[in-house]
Amino acid sequence: ADKGPNILNIESILMQFGGLKALNLVDISIKRGTVHGLIGPNGSGKSTMMNVLTGIYIPTAGDVKFENQSVVGKTSSEIALSGIARTFQNVQLFGEMTALENILVGLHHSFESNLFEVSLHLPRYLREESSARHRALGLLKFVGLESLANEEARNLPYGKQRMLEIARALALDPNLLLLDEPAAGLTAPDIKELLTVIRKIRDHGITIILIEHHMDVVMSVCDKISVLDFGEKIAEGVASEIQSNAKVIEAYLGG
Ligand code: ADP
Ligand code: MG
Repeated sequence: ADKGPNILNIESILMQFGGLKALNLVDISIKRGTVHGLIGPNGSGKSTMMNVLTGIYIPTAGDVKFENQSVVGKTSSEIALSGIARTFQNVQLFGEMTALENILVGLHHSFESNLFEVSLHLPRYLREESSARHRALGLLKFVGLESLANEEARNLPYGKQRMLEIARALALDPNLLLLDEPAAGLTAPDIKELLTVIRKIRDHGITIILIEHHMDVVMSVCDKISVLDFGEKIAEGVASEIQSNAKVIEAYLGG
Protein backbone atom coordinates (compact mmCIF):
# COMPACT_ATOMS: atom_id res chain seq x y z
CA ALA A 1 0.00 0.00 0.00
CA ASP A 2 1.03 3.57 -0.61
CA LYS A 3 2.66 5.19 2.41
CA GLY A 4 2.30 8.79 1.26
CA PRO A 5 1.37 11.45 3.77
CA ASN A 6 -2.32 11.41 2.81
CA ILE A 7 -4.26 8.21 3.26
CA LEU A 8 -7.44 9.76 1.86
CA ASN A 9 -8.12 12.58 -0.59
CA ILE A 10 -11.69 13.80 -0.89
CA GLU A 11 -11.82 15.85 -4.08
CA SER A 12 -14.65 18.26 -4.99
CA ILE A 13 -17.37 15.91 -3.79
CA LEU A 14 -20.88 16.91 -4.85
CA MET A 15 -23.75 14.82 -3.47
CA GLN A 16 -27.14 15.89 -4.69
CA PHE A 17 -30.51 14.52 -3.53
CA GLY A 18 -32.98 16.05 -5.98
CA GLY A 19 -32.48 19.79 -5.54
CA LEU A 20 -30.59 19.45 -2.25
CA LYS A 21 -26.79 19.66 -2.29
CA ALA A 22 -26.01 17.58 0.81
CA LEU A 23 -22.30 17.97 -0.04
CA ASN A 24 -21.29 20.89 -2.23
CA LEU A 25 -17.78 20.57 -3.71
CA VAL A 26 -16.08 19.42 -0.53
CA ASP A 27 -12.30 18.89 -0.48
CA ILE A 28 -10.67 17.22 2.52
CA SER A 29 -7.26 15.56 2.81
CA ILE A 30 -6.66 13.13 5.67
CA LYS A 31 -3.08 12.57 6.86
CA ARG A 32 -2.05 9.00 7.56
CA GLY A 33 -1.84 8.13 11.25
CA THR A 34 -4.00 11.01 12.48
CA VAL A 35 -7.41 11.42 14.09
CA HIS A 36 -9.34 13.76 11.78
CA GLY A 37 -12.51 15.33 13.15
CA LEU A 38 -15.55 16.02 10.96
CA ILE A 39 -18.01 18.32 12.67
CA GLY A 40 -20.93 20.58 11.81
CA PRO A 41 -24.53 21.24 12.85
CA ASN A 42 -27.27 18.66 12.27
CA GLY A 43 -27.94 18.13 8.59
CA SER A 44 -24.61 19.61 7.49
CA GLY A 45 -23.63 16.48 5.54
CA LYS A 46 -21.38 14.50 7.90
CA SER A 47 -23.12 11.13 7.65
CA THR A 48 -23.62 11.67 3.93
CA MET A 49 -19.85 12.00 3.61
CA MET A 50 -19.37 8.71 5.53
CA ASN A 51 -21.82 7.07 3.13
CA VAL A 52 -19.91 8.40 0.13
CA LEU A 53 -16.60 7.17 1.57
CA THR A 54 -18.00 3.67 2.13
CA GLY A 55 -19.79 3.22 -1.18
CA ILE A 56 -23.34 3.48 0.15
CA TYR A 57 -23.87 6.64 -1.90
CA ILE A 58 -22.27 7.29 -5.29
CA PRO A 59 -21.44 11.00 -5.47
CA THR A 60 -22.97 13.14 -8.18
CA ALA A 61 -19.49 14.45 -8.98
CA GLY A 62 -15.98 14.45 -7.58
CA ASP A 63 -13.61 11.71 -6.47
CA VAL A 64 -12.39 9.99 -3.33
CA LYS A 65 -8.92 8.47 -3.42
CA PHE A 66 -7.95 5.98 -0.70
CA GLU A 67 -4.25 5.18 -0.81
CA ASN A 68 -4.21 6.82 -4.26
CA GLN A 69 -6.96 4.60 -5.68
CA SER A 70 -10.43 5.88 -6.46
CA VAL A 71 -13.17 4.27 -4.38
CA VAL A 72 -16.03 5.86 -6.32
CA GLY A 73 -18.06 3.16 -8.05
CA LYS A 74 -16.74 0.36 -5.83
CA THR A 75 -19.24 -1.58 -3.72
CA SER A 76 -19.33 -1.24 0.06
CA SER A 77 -17.77 -4.66 0.55
CA GLU A 78 -14.99 -3.95 -1.96
CA ILE A 79 -14.22 -0.73 -0.08
CA ALA A 80 -14.28 -2.55 3.28
CA LEU A 81 -11.89 -5.20 1.97
CA SER A 82 -9.58 -2.49 0.64
CA GLY A 83 -9.18 -1.22 4.22
CA ILE A 84 -11.91 1.27 5.18
CA ALA A 85 -14.04 0.17 8.16
CA ARG A 86 -16.83 2.07 9.87
CA THR A 87 -19.31 2.20 12.69
CA PHE A 88 -22.78 3.63 12.18
CA GLN A 89 -24.57 6.52 13.89
CA ASN A 90 -27.10 3.98 15.23
CA VAL A 91 -26.01 0.70 16.81
CA GLN A 92 -26.04 -2.10 14.23
CA LEU A 93 -25.18 -5.26 16.13
CA PHE A 94 -26.72 -8.72 15.95
CA GLY A 95 -28.62 -8.57 19.25
CA GLU A 96 -29.16 -12.29 19.79
CA MET A 97 -25.55 -13.13 19.02
CA THR A 98 -22.85 -12.96 21.69
CA ALA A 99 -20.19 -10.26 21.70
CA LEU A 100 -17.69 -12.83 20.44
CA GLU A 101 -20.00 -13.99 17.64
CA ASN A 102 -20.54 -10.40 16.52
CA ILE A 103 -16.78 -10.09 16.03
CA LEU A 104 -16.54 -13.47 14.31
CA VAL A 105 -19.09 -12.24 11.77
CA GLY A 106 -16.78 -9.32 11.06
CA LEU A 107 -13.81 -11.66 10.66
CA HIS A 108 -15.57 -14.13 8.42
CA HIS A 109 -14.55 -12.51 5.16
CA SER A 110 -10.92 -13.34 5.85
CA PHE A 111 -11.55 -17.09 6.05
CA GLU A 112 -9.92 -18.98 3.20
CA SER A 113 -12.06 -22.08 3.53
CA ASN A 114 -15.14 -22.51 1.41
CA LEU A 115 -18.62 -23.43 2.59
CA PHE A 116 -17.99 -27.08 1.73
CA GLU A 117 -15.08 -27.24 4.15
CA VAL A 118 -17.05 -25.34 6.77
CA SER A 119 -20.05 -27.65 6.60
CA LEU A 120 -17.94 -30.81 6.78
CA HIS A 121 -15.76 -29.38 9.55
CA LEU A 122 -12.68 -30.15 7.53
CA PRO A 123 -9.33 -29.41 9.21
CA ARG A 124 -8.60 -26.13 7.45
CA TYR A 125 -11.91 -24.67 8.62
CA LEU A 126 -11.30 -25.81 12.20
CA ARG A 127 -7.83 -24.24 12.17
CA GLU A 128 -9.19 -20.98 10.82
CA GLU A 129 -12.10 -21.07 13.25
CA SER A 130 -9.79 -21.40 16.22
CA SER A 131 -7.43 -18.66 15.06
CA ALA A 132 -10.45 -16.45 14.34
CA ARG A 133 -11.73 -16.98 17.90
CA HIS A 134 -8.30 -16.14 19.20
CA ARG A 135 -8.20 -12.94 17.17
CA ALA A 136 -11.77 -12.04 18.14
CA LEU A 137 -10.95 -12.45 21.84
CA GLY A 138 -7.90 -10.25 21.34
CA LEU A 139 -10.10 -7.54 19.84
CA LEU A 140 -12.59 -7.79 22.72
CA LYS A 141 -9.70 -7.40 25.15
CA PHE A 142 -8.44 -4.38 23.20
CA VAL A 143 -11.73 -2.55 23.90
CA GLY A 144 -12.12 -3.90 27.45
CA LEU A 145 -14.88 -6.42 26.73
CA GLU A 146 -13.09 -9.73 27.28
CA SER A 147 -15.18 -10.59 30.36
CA LEU A 148 -18.39 -10.06 28.36
CA ALA A 149 -17.41 -12.24 25.36
CA ASN A 150 -20.29 -14.67 25.85
CA GLU A 151 -23.01 -12.13 26.66
CA GLU A 152 -25.67 -11.52 24.04
CA ALA A 153 -25.06 -8.14 22.45
CA ARG A 154 -28.58 -6.92 23.32
CA ASN A 155 -27.86 -7.48 27.04
CA LEU A 156 -24.74 -5.30 27.07
CA PRO A 157 -25.00 -1.77 28.48
CA TYR A 158 -25.24 0.80 25.69
CA GLY A 159 -21.66 2.02 26.11
CA LYS A 160 -20.36 -1.54 25.79
CA GLN A 161 -22.43 -2.09 22.64
CA ARG A 162 -20.72 0.91 21.05
CA MET A 163 -17.31 -0.50 22.04
CA LEU A 164 -18.29 -3.83 20.51
CA GLU A 165 -19.10 -2.08 17.25
CA ILE A 166 -15.64 -0.52 17.23
CA ALA A 167 -14.04 -3.93 17.89
CA ARG A 168 -16.07 -5.44 15.07
CA ALA A 169 -14.93 -2.72 12.68
CA LEU A 170 -11.32 -3.38 13.73
CA ALA A 171 -11.79 -7.07 12.86
CA LEU A 172 -11.55 -6.01 9.22
CA ASP A 173 -7.96 -4.94 9.93
CA PRO A 174 -8.58 -1.51 8.41
CA ASN A 175 -6.07 1.21 7.63
CA LEU A 176 -8.83 3.81 7.97
CA LEU A 177 -11.61 3.70 10.57
CA LEU A 178 -14.69 5.91 10.33
CA LEU A 179 -16.56 6.57 13.60
CA ASP A 180 -19.98 8.23 13.27
CA GLU A 181 -20.89 9.87 16.61
CA PRO A 182 -19.35 7.18 18.82
CA ALA A 183 -19.90 9.24 22.00
CA ALA A 184 -23.63 9.84 21.41
CA GLY A 185 -25.62 8.64 24.41
CA LEU A 186 -22.54 7.65 26.42
CA THR A 187 -22.00 8.44 30.11
CA ALA A 188 -18.97 10.48 31.18
CA PRO A 189 -16.96 7.38 32.26
CA ASP A 190 -17.85 5.67 28.95
CA ILE A 191 -16.59 8.72 27.05
CA LYS A 192 -13.30 8.60 28.95
CA GLU A 193 -12.90 4.96 27.96
CA LEU A 194 -13.77 5.79 24.37
CA LEU A 195 -11.08 8.47 24.23
CA THR A 196 -8.52 5.97 25.51
CA VAL A 197 -9.54 3.41 22.89
CA ILE A 198 -9.44 6.00 20.07
CA ARG A 199 -5.89 6.96 21.06
CA LYS A 200 -4.87 3.30 21.29
CA ILE A 201 -6.22 2.66 17.79
CA ARG A 202 -4.30 5.63 16.42
CA ASP A 203 -1.15 4.42 18.20
CA HIS A 204 -1.52 1.18 16.23
CA GLY A 205 -1.14 3.25 13.06
CA ILE A 206 -4.81 3.25 12.07
CA THR A 207 -6.09 6.57 10.74
CA ILE A 208 -9.45 7.69 12.15
CA ILE A 209 -12.16 10.01 10.87
CA LEU A 210 -14.27 11.02 13.84
CA ILE A 211 -17.74 12.54 13.47
CA GLU A 212 -18.81 13.83 16.85
CA HIS A 213 -21.15 16.28 18.52
CA HIS A 214 -19.37 16.28 21.88
CA MET A 215 -17.01 19.20 21.34
CA ASP A 216 -14.77 18.29 24.28
CA VAL A 217 -14.19 14.86 22.71
CA VAL A 218 -13.41 16.36 19.31
CA MET A 219 -11.14 19.04 20.68
CA SER A 220 -9.16 16.71 22.94
CA VAL A 221 -8.46 13.86 20.52
CA CYS A 222 -8.39 15.28 16.97
CA ASP A 223 -5.14 16.26 15.27
CA LYS A 224 -7.09 18.26 12.71
CA ILE A 225 -10.76 19.17 12.23
CA SER A 226 -12.88 19.97 9.18
CA VAL A 227 -16.18 21.79 9.66
CA LEU A 228 -19.22 21.36 7.41
CA ASP A 229 -22.24 23.66 7.25
CA PHE A 230 -25.08 23.17 4.75
CA GLY A 231 -22.89 20.76 2.80
CA GLU A 232 -19.93 23.11 2.47
CA LYS A 233 -16.57 23.04 4.21
CA ILE A 234 -16.44 26.31 6.12
CA ALA A 235 -13.29 25.83 8.20
CA GLU A 236 -10.37 23.51 8.81
CA GLY A 237 -7.53 23.44 11.30
CA VAL A 238 -6.36 22.37 14.74
CA ALA A 239 -8.69 22.60 17.75
CA SER A 240 -7.65 26.10 18.83
CA GLU A 241 -8.17 27.47 15.30
CA ILE A 242 -11.61 25.89 15.03
CA GLN A 243 -12.75 27.07 18.45
CA SER A 244 -11.90 30.69 17.63
CA ASN A 245 -13.18 30.62 14.03
CA ALA A 246 -15.98 33.16 13.52
CA LYS A 247 -17.71 31.14 10.77
CA VAL A 248 -17.79 28.06 12.98
CA ILE A 249 -19.22 29.95 15.94
CA GLU A 250 -21.85 31.51 13.66
CA ALA A 251 -22.77 28.11 12.16
CA TYR A 252 -23.39 26.59 15.58
CA LEU A 253 -25.16 29.59 17.11
CA GLY A 254 -27.12 30.43 13.96
CA GLY A 255 -28.14 26.77 13.40
P1 ADP B 1 -25.45 15.14 9.40
O1 ADP B 1 -24.92 13.75 9.50
O2 ADP B 1 -24.39 16.18 9.31
O3 ADP B 1 -26.44 15.46 10.49
P2 ADP B 1 -26.64 14.17 6.93
O4 ADP B 1 -25.46 13.86 6.12
O5 ADP B 1 -27.35 13.04 7.57
O6 ADP B 1 -26.28 15.28 8.03
O7 ADP B 1 -27.69 14.95 6.04
C1 ADP B 1 -27.34 16.06 5.22
C2 ADP B 1 -28.53 16.48 4.41
O8 ADP B 1 -28.76 15.51 3.38
C3 ADP B 1 -29.83 16.57 5.21
O9 ADP B 1 -30.56 17.65 4.73
C4 ADP B 1 -30.49 15.26 4.92
O10 ADP B 1 -31.89 15.36 5.05
C5 ADP B 1 -30.07 15.01 3.47
N1 ADP B 1 -30.02 13.59 3.12
C6 ADP B 1 -29.17 12.66 3.61
N2 ADP B 1 -29.37 11.46 3.04
C7 ADP B 1 -30.40 11.64 2.17
C8 ADP B 1 -31.10 10.77 1.26
N3 ADP B 1 -30.77 9.48 1.15
N4 ADP B 1 -32.10 11.30 0.52
C9 ADP B 1 -32.44 12.61 0.65
N5 ADP B 1 -31.82 13.47 1.46
C10 ADP B 1 -30.82 13.00 2.21
MG1 MG C 1 -25.23 12.26 11.00
